[in-house]
Amino acid sequence: MTTPVESSASDGSERSRLTKRILIGMGLGLVLGLVLNAVGTDGLIANFVLEGIFQVVGAIFLASLKLLVVPLVFVSLVCGTASLEDVSKLGRVGGKTLGLYVMTTAIALTLAVLAAVVVQPGANFDLITDATYRATTPPTFAETLVGLFPTNPIRAMAEGNMLQIIVFSVLFGLAVTLSGERGKRVLAVFEDLNAVILRLVMMLMSLAPIGVFCLIARVFALQGLDAIDNLAMYFVLVLAVLVLHASVIYPTLLMLFAHLSPLAFFRSMRNPLAVAFSTASSNATLPITMENAEKRLGADRSITSFTVPLGATINMDGTAIMQGVATGFIAQAYGIDIGLGGYVTVVVTATLASIGTAGVPGVGLVMLAMVLRQVNLPVEGIGIIIGVDRLLDMVRTAVNITGDSAVTCIVAKSEGQLSLDTYERRTQD
Ligand code: ASP
Repeated sequence: MTTPVESSASDGSERSRLTKRILIGMGLGLVLGLVLNAVGTDGLIANFVLEGIFQVVGAIFLASLKLLVVPLVFVSLVCGTASLEDVSKLGRVGGKTLGLYVMTTAIALTLAVLAAVVVQPGANFDLITDATYRATTPPTFAETLVGLFPTNPIRAMAEGNMLQIIVFSVLFGLAVTLSGERGKRVLAVFEDLNAVILRLVMMLMSLAPIGVFCLIARVFALQGLDAIDNLAMYFVLVLAVLVLHASVIYPTLLMLFAHLSPLAFFRSMRNPLAVAFSTASSNATLPITMENAEKRLGADRSITSFTVPLGATINMDGTAIMQGVATGFIAQAYGIDIGLGGYVTVVVTATLASIGTAGVPGVGLVMLAMVLRQVNLPVEGIGIIIGVDRLLDMVRTAVNITGDSAVTCIVAKSEGQLSLDTYERRTQD
């Protein structure tokens, strides 16, 4: 029989082997993708490799992640809510989390808008005016607010409506706490289910090296880096602001608000970062982000079960950065000056737009359409930047989940719910 100490040590080394394999999968996928792109992707390669093996294995990996999202959020949030000592704590945790999410998004947008105004990536852009983009209509703020409340929890789960699932799970968890002995029995079942689901996350995670390899190889083989060509200024500027935000703003907040080491934080983030990069979906990455926040960053489930699903839906700093730079770029390319007031409107609209739009690939463009309309810029402008969007989507999704995890650590620390031993990896590999 293994003792808890032995099993946590073996969990640790298993985890670090997996991380290595995922990183190798990522690197190999990138190299192979670029090589295939260079040698050409027609005929056999396109049919059997890209649309065959890579497409099938990548899609199975994605499906295996997505299938975990709804049960994981529901079960862990019921357990998390029921384990809070008092209801006022829920309000406090909610307030801090929302405050930090809105704050980091507003900082991200401000940085992006400043960068676009100073660097002027679209100033000398050779505008070909036949760009087309058909925008879908995003929900209004009032619709988003009403839409928080499910009329049918089963439908909310079937549709994967994250905010409705969160509302239902919190209410259910509260009712469990208030139901005395019966509530305790129900909670015991949920606790067991939670352990089983986390085990399932670990089992499916072992697919990650191959899944990540196939997804990345396919994207780079099909896209290559050619699309960047005359959008290089835009592309590099978005990347630079993303890197700046991740490497300066989050570390500063971690140190300032929680006295936590940013190095330890980033060391523990490798698995969710690799999965976010290859799937370009915060939602699909959610099971990994959540497991990582508990097992590697040391945040208690009563915090992670709330902050991570909420973050995957409403906190998208990376997406906000793309929107800020893209708005400036499109305004400059069309020679339209939206003025200071216009840029302030961009910051406010884009912050609000991120609430209520789920973290799935490409959703940033839908939000961008809303922002462009608000400041009377041509929505077709999105057609210009769409060619490089998939590559940027991968990076900004990684930033999005980094923001969710950093805020989770700050909130957990402030509530006395962060294990420093785990965070600093004194009990792990
Ligand atoms: N793919 C991003 C995410 O899932 C959203 C976006 O920027 O399009 O977080």
